[in-house]
Amino acid sequence: MKDKINISLIYPPFSTPTSVPFGLACLKGFLEKKDAGVKVSVFDFNLALYERFINAGKDCLPCYFCRKLNLSCFCKGIGADELNSLARGRKYFRNKSNFSDKQIYERHLRYFYSFFIEKIRKCCNRILKELLEFNPENILLKNFFQEEISRVKSRNPQLIGISLHNLVAGTFSFYPFALAKALKHYCRAPIIMGGASFSYVNPEDFLRVFDFIDYIIKGPGAESLYILAKNLNNGKIKEIPNLAYRKSGKILINESLKSGVKEFSCPDFSEFELKKYYNPQLVLPVMFSRGCSWGACVFCKYYGDHKGKPVFKRPDEFAEELGLLQKKYKACHFYIVDNCIPPDKLFKLARAILSKGLKINYIVYARPAKFSLKILKLLSRSGCKSIHWGVESASNRILKLMNKGTNIEEVERVLKNSSKSGIRNLIYMIFDFPLQKKEDYLKNLEFIQRLRDQVSFIGLHFFRLEKDTIMSGNPFKYNIRVGSKEKLFSLSGKRVNSSIYNISPLEEIVDPKNYQAEKLLFLAYVKKFSFPGYFEEHMFFTEKRKGHEVSKDKIN
Ligand code: SF4
Repeated sequence: MKDKINISLIYPPFSTPTSVPFGLACLKGFLEKKDAGVKVSVFDFNLALYERFINAGKDCLPCYFCRKLNLSCFCKGIGADELNSLARGRKYFRNKSNFSDKQIYERHLRYFYSFFIEKIRKCCNRILKELLEFNPENILLKNFFQEEISRVKSRNPQLIGISLHNLVAGTFSFYPFALAKALKHYCRAPIIMGGASFSYVNPEDFLRVFDFIDYIIKGPGAESLYILAKNLNNGKIKEIPNLAYRKSGKILINESLKSGVKEFSCPDFSEFELKKYYNPQLVLPVMFSRGCSWGACVFCKYYGDHKGKPVFKRPDEFAEELGLLQKKYKACHFYIVDNCIPPDKLFKLARAILSKGLKINYIVYARPAKFSLKILKLLSRSGCKSIHWGVESASNRILKLMNKGTNIEEVERVLKNSSKSGIRNLIYMIFDFPLQKKEDYLKNLEFIQRLRDQVSFIGLHFFRLEKDTIMSGNPFKYNIRVGSKEKLFSLSGKRVNSSIYNISPLEEIVDPKNYQAEKLLFLAYVKKFSFPGYFEEHMFFTEKRKGHEVSKDKIN
């Protein structure tokens, strides 16, 4: 019998320990279904890193490496008390049936955030940046990744894939690259990188800086990964769609392939240690569609290739998939990760869920337009617990500039009906959208004040100009002067940029000092609603929270 092709796929830090890696589960489901001759092993090294540090005891790894490399250490030595508190937090997140005590919950959450994001991530980044400059045989590099190397090596992979999900300045991590360097050396297999992030940055930059990366997939990856795995030994790679690679000293990128429904077959979570995620009950990520049926907001590019033409699974098939996942993994909570699902599709999905008699809970993202009370009531009956709405602004002038296709009167109606139907509203808003004036901040503030009983949480985003958006193609219209792109990182004197532009106003239409107070008030008010942010899956287990009063005289 012919040997199977072994592929190892890795989800690296730093992400939250509540999210099961969806992309890897989809790739495993797709590749193994397509070809019985392919065996995919998946590794969540993000979760493993949390576990490793919480269980580290006194031999705290980052401090050891900081000392060896003569680096000043952000965590300044981790004491037994600190590790005990983290272990208590982990137990609380895993075992508490709901997080009704806001103070206790937030104390644990803050602790995790400050420990992992403000200390550990910074320390690891410094350490791994240094280690990246060393020879792969360097004992410190080998020691840092000892566990990872031995786990991947035990699967004897012919191809190692690393999924990148955080290629933005501020949260950038050297971990996946240092790991790739170590694995390439110790496992003797080619390294391929992919993930949603590579749709936005230039893969050429990464192949130029990191000579141990062999391939990068730009865009949808399942089909490309499959063809590559099948052709690894015959060098036929010039027709593999979306693939970036080196040839005769040049970096080439093959033509792209739009992803279709066949690319997102049912995810396979069977290899993940599902009980270890930091949620009281299992929450599984799932996907109903790719793209966005609106696809016209001027600041957005997350609809990818499917601008205005998303690809959907059939509602009855997707409901069937939810039922299978529920049965197989005993999961009742599903996080539907699609960018934005229109009301007609959600209505059909809700009907399919109900007709199959599924008892599940789910969360979705949507645009607050054309959702009637009838649709929202049906969604609620089918298990929809929360909708994440792209509200962005409460000013019709700004919504028009954004080309959001909504108006605030309708948004308000939708949110009220959603709340009336028993669905919790999480709204996203954009702070500092260009051309925003004092009256727009006041409208935002008055809006959330008015809807404080209908809105449970607010996710506030600071405006960033991304490449390949309608706005970046016509910045003058938005009073924006576009500068260079933000630096993502630099290594050995080589710089790699992110997909975000540095911007400044073309001309100061309004003096920002005149509305500083309104901006700060808006920020302070939003902060009171700003949960969960860090551990989004916990939305299922939190109580409905009411807003906080802001006295009218502060607004006027
Ligand atoms: S912001 Fe949301 S609704 Fe607008 S185009 Fe992007 S995904 Fe679609």
